[in-house]
Amino acid sequence: MLNIVLFGPPGAGKGTQSAKLIEKYNLVHLSTGDIFRANIKNETELGKLAKSYIDKGQLVPDEVTIGMLADEVNKNTNAKGFIFDGFPRTQAQAEALDTLLRNKNSSITLMLALEVEEEELRKRLLLRGKDSGRADDQNPEIIQNRINVYNAETTPVKDFYQNQGKYKGINGIGEIETIFEALCTAIDTNK
Ligand code: AMP
Repeated sequence: MLNIVLFGPPGAGKGTQSAKLIEKYNLVHLSTGDIFRANIKNETELGKLAKSYIDKGQLVPDEVTIGMLADEVNKNTNAKGFIFDGFPRTQAQAEALDTLLRNKNSSITLMLALEVEEEELRKRLLLRGKDSGRADDQNPEIIQNRINVYNAETTPVKDFYQNQGKYKGINGIGEIETIFEALCTAIDTNK
């Protein structure tokens, strides 16, 4: 299996690049943010719970997020591999993902981290807020809160994969195609 963690702060381009990578490598895209938004749209209990955190720019609690992600992985029994987009965002999530994959005799192949500085993220997110209508992209305070949460709670996840020799940083600024090529090179040289 080819299992990629596509990592990076909000607005780094994870969704855009995931869409291209799943097509090229025939992988299943699991974006926890997308799954939460689908649940909010369908007004499920999970959606109601997630919304109360997402609207403030906070992380949804680990138990809820890990359980949901595990269900999605288990649903896709025939997958050739996964792109994990927006997950793991905490050390506990990273550990849970390792255990989940180990129980399937699999593991994370590589963490690809899109690197974009904060000022550029703020610009991109506000722009996306105008186009997508995503409420959490429209308010500068919520955007800043998400960036702060990323710096405080999510950055340590890098070390988790670096300690396993699986971390690779990729410049996330530039043309979409150029960034995509850099991601593909990192994947292909790792095979
Ligand atoms: P995203 O679309 O990845 O930017 O996620 C949007 C929001 O969903 C985040 O700001 C969090 O509130 C929530 N979320 C998404 N993924 C996770 C996760 N792995 N752990 C906790 N909360 C998450």
